[in-house]
Amino acid sequence: MSAAGVVELTASEAAAAVERGELAAGELFESYRARAASDVQAGADGLNCFTWVAEAAGPDGARAPLQGVPLAVKDLFCVAGVPSQAGSRILEGYLPPYTATAVSRLSDAGAALLAKTNQDEFAMGSSNENSAFGPVRNPWDRERVPGGSSGGSAAAVAAGLAPWAIGTDTGGSIRQPAALCGIVGLKPTYGAVSRYGMIAFASSLDQAGPLTRTVADAALLLRHMSGRDPCDATSLQLAPVELPDAERLDGLRIGVPEELSGEGVEAGVREQFTRALARAQELGAAVEATALPHAPHALSAYYVLAPAECSSNLARYDGVRYGLRAQGAEDLLQMYTRTRHDGFGPEVKRRVMLGTYALSAGYYEAFYGRAQKVRTKIAEDFARAFESVDLIATPTSPTVAFKLGERTAEPLAMYMSDYCTVPMSLAGIPAISIPCGLSQGLPVGLQLAGPAFSENRLLDAAHALERAIAFDASPARV
Ligand code: GLN
Repeated sequence: MSAAGVVELTASEAAAAVERGELAAGELFESYRARAASDVQAGADGLNCFTWVAEAAGPDGARAPLQGVPLAVKDLFCVAGVPSQAGSRILEGYLPPYTATAVSRLSDAGAALLAKTNQDEFAMGSSNENSAFGPVRNPWDRERVPGGSSGGSAAAVAAGLAPWAIGTDTGGSIRQPAALCGIVGLKPTYGAVSRYGMIAFASSLDQAGPLTRTVADAALLLRHMSGRDPCDATSLQLAPVELPDAERLDGLRIGVPEELSGEGVEAGVREQFTRALARAQELGAAVEATALPHAPHALSAYYVLAPAECSSNLARYDGVRYGLRAQGAEDLLQMYTRTRHDGFGPEVKRRVMLGTYALSAGYYEAFYGRAQKVRTKIAEDFARAFESVDLIATPTSPTVAFKLGERTAEPLAMYMSDYCTVPMSLAGIPAISIPCGLSQGLPVGLQLAGPAFSENRLLDAAHALERAIAFDASPARV
C-alpha cells in the first residue's frame, strides 16, 4: 500500500488491514510518524498540532485488537518519561513517573503512542490560542482556530497527521474542536473513563474521550479506554461498548431544545443542523421540540464552578514539586509567586483569581452554592426531557471556526463558543459531535446527547446519521 493510501484508511480499517497481513504495523506507524514529524519541522508554516512526536514505534508491533494503530494523545495525559505539560510553561521539564490509565489501557489493547498534541493551557480555552506552545491552525483554513481545548488532537485527525486521537472535555473541549475541524468527537458519561493521570482542570467535569474520523472508530477507542479503575474513585464501568451498525432510526425520539438551537446560532450552522434533522426523520426518527429551561444559565454556572475547581487543582504548582521554578527569589513566598507569575498564562491566572474569589469566605454561598443549585436544575431538565425523548440534538457550536485572534481580547465572546456543550457537561451525560455539512466552506457539527450510560444508543444513532449525511469533504492534505 502506498504511504498516501495508508493515511486514507480509518483507524478501524487500518487495524483490520494489519490483522489480515495486508499492511505492516511498522509501515503504518512510520507513515504517520513522518507526517507528524514534518508538521513539527514546518514550525510556523505547519499546523502546530504536536508538542512531542515519537522517534519510533514501541517494541511491541502489531498486537490485537488495536494492531499497532498509532494514537495521538492530548498533552495533559501523563505518559511515563514523555514530556507532559498540559500546554503550560509551568510544567516545563516535567517527565511523569507514571502513565494515565486511559493511555495505558489503549497501549495494552495494542495502540502505539505516536505523539502528544497541543492544547489550551490546562484545557482552559476554546481556540487553542492559550497554549505555551503557540496556537494550532485549522487545516480547513489556516487563518482560523481549530477550536479547543483539544485543538491539536482535532486538527491532527482532520489533517490526516494521526488516524485517531484522545482528548478531554470539561465543557466542550472534545466536541467543539471536533465540530470546527469536521471530525467525530465523543464526551462519554462522567466517570466512564478514568481520570487517573489526566492533569486536572475541574475534576467534577473533566472527562476523556475519542476524536476520530468515524463513529465506528470512536466506539472502538471508547471500548478500550473506558472502565472502572481503582485509581479513580469516580470511575465506573460502562456496559460493554458495541461497535455501531444501525442503518435506520425507526422508533427513535429526538428532542430539539429551542434554548440551544435558536437565537445565537449563526444562520449557516442552523441551516445544516435543520438539514441533519430532516435526514434523521427520513431514517425513521421522530423529531420533536423539547424544553431545557435552565440551559441558558449553564455557562454562568460553569464559569463559577470550573474556575473554583481549577483554583484548587492548580494550587499544587508551587515551583517545588513539578516543572518550572523561578530563579533568584529571596525567600520561599517570592519563589512561589514568581514561579506562578512566570509559569501561568493570562487565561489560567484569570480563572485562578475568579475561582479563589468565588470560594472565599462570605461569597461561597452567593457564587459557588448558587452555581451548584443551577447545575442541579440543569440535570433535572435533562432528566425530564429524557422522559419523553431518547436523545437530544443541538448544533455543537453556535458558529463555524473563527479567525485566529478574533476572540482573544474578549473572554466572554470566547466563552460563548461552548454555549451548546456546557449543559451536558454539568449534567454528566454523554454527547457526541459528528460533521453534518459545510457553511462558508467550513465544517458544522451536529451534537447528539443521551442519558447517562446511553453510549451504545448514542453511537448507533450517530453512526446511522453519519451514513445518511455522508459528509465526505476533507481539508487539503498537508
Ligand atoms: N472552553 C471551555 C473552557 O474554557 C471548556 C474547556 C474544556 O472543556 N476543557 O473552560
